[in-house]
Amino acid sequence: MISLFGKAAPIRSVVGHLDDIHQSLLIALPVLRHVGRYRQSTPWATEAGGQLFGIINARQVCVTEASGPYASDERSRHRYRSNPAAAQRAIEDYHTRRLLYLGEWHTHAEDHPSASNLDNDAMRRLMASSQLNSSALLMMIVGRVPGASGLGVWSISSEVICQWSLRESE
Ligand SMILES: [Zn+2]
Repeated sequence: MISLFGKAAPIRSVVGHLDDIHQSLLIALPVLRHVGRYRQSTPWATEAGGQLFGIINARQVCVTEASGPYASDERSRHRYRSNPAAAQRAIEDYHTRRLLYLGEWHTHAEDHPSASNLDNDAMRRLMASSQLNSSALLMMIVGRVPGASGLGVWSISSEVICQWSLRESE
């Protein structure tokens, strides 16, 4: 499948596993398509990002929608911060559609993304907020390579930060 921009659109969702955890992670196709539009494929592309939404059941964390970026976000080649008011509005909108706020996403100008020092700071802040909400939050980084190998996803709970092993679904 070829998109308008000549890049292959994703045709498989991405699933994730963590050692010792029975719940798996599903990143649905509409999410991959949405974030894929903001991949930093050109040398001048700035980081983009937003929030992740979906549902959680005993077996799976399902990320079904992604929002953002928004006007008046802070965006540069190596930095992204959602406009806080816009992010809050998105969280409320999806809440009325009974979708949970599951975390944050942003792009990186690297093929296979790794968490930067800024990202580690952001994860520590999410850790503090998940202490208040008593639920784990996700942080997804979208690199330049399409598919599972171009994604990084971390789970942040009040106690630990761990990275999901990802693969494309069959
Ligand atoms: Zn980052």
